[in-house]
Amino acid sequence: MRKFSTATTAAIGFVAALLAAPVLAANVKVTPLGSHDGEFCPQDRALVLEDPNGTRILYDPGRTVAGPNDPRLGKIDIVLVTHMHGDHVGNAHIKDVNAGECGKPETPVSAMPNSNAVNIALAKKSKIVTGSEMQAFFAAKLRTNGGQASDAMLARFGGSVTVGGVRIATVPASHSNGLDPDYIGGDLGKSMKDAGIAGYVGEATGYVLKFSNGLVAYLSGDTGITGEQEKVVRGHYAAKLAVMNIGDGFTTGPAEAAYVMNDLVKPNAVIASHANEAGTKGGKVVPGSKTETFMKAAKMPVHIPLSGKTMEFDANGKCAAGC
Ligand SMILES: [Zn+2]
Repeated sequence: MRKFSTATTAAIGFVAALLAAPVLAANVKVTPLGSHDGEFCPQDRALVLEDPNGTRILYDPGRTVAGPNDPRLGKIDIVLVTHMHGDHVGNAHIKDVNAGECGKPETPVSAMPNSNAVNIALAKKSKIVTGSEMQAFFAAKLRTNGGQASDAMLARFGGSVTVGGVRIATVPASHSNGLDPDYIGGDLGKSMKDAGIAGYVGEATGYVLKFSNGLVAYLSGDTGITGEQEKVVRGHYAAKLAVMNIGDGFTTGPAEAAYVMNDLVKPNAVIASHANEAGTKGGKVVPGSKTETFMKAAKMPVHIPLSGKTMEFDANGKCAAGC
């Protein structure tokens, strides 16, 4: 067998290092934007997901992003909204990070009748990508506030759109999705409010994102247990990372969420979300919390979204840094 010279071996090593470098760097960065630095608090839903190519996606800004001027936002190319409930689209929001206690975050700033999501998208000139029939609502809000209606993009069940190199699909969520009449206003809004009727904007959704490094991530939104979590999210899309709501009462609780992860989606890692409790104190998981119950019940690594702490995930959903 022919032996390589030292110089040839060195050259091969150099080329191998060059080839390996982009792979090492090709992680998806996930940064939670919660109400309190370094903690996982009751209202926390918002995440910024950054593709290795620099595309930045804001998921469910809700109430813990301090409006468009929140310095943590930076560039936002895409805003995702799973459904129209105030804690996801953002009917109100914090004034500043760390105001009040983690267990009782203060959200004194109203974002009505536009929503935090729309205000952020207008300021950042982001696309809003939604499924169901929410796209028409967002198009109207953007248009009436000086934005581009075409920036509200549709990804209805079964289809997908690619924005900034990230493929975005929506999946069904078993939840409700009534539009608060305060977003409508006027006599119609008042009549609907008086009658206790919400506006129709179609079904609530989750998302499946495929990033440019190959990572497929499932963002559950508010949902119960659904057959699609097995047949669609795992069977078709093969998600390797999940963001799963664990709060109970309004969505799957810790036991149901663990079943969804262990038996239906089977990702390689999961980020807990939507706990509706102070899941941490001093950055440590609170004993006896729903967050702890979920961590113990899930068979794969559970990562806690500590606000402001960036986690990095490789193509297989394995945490490569920051967890
Ligand atoms: Zn909801």
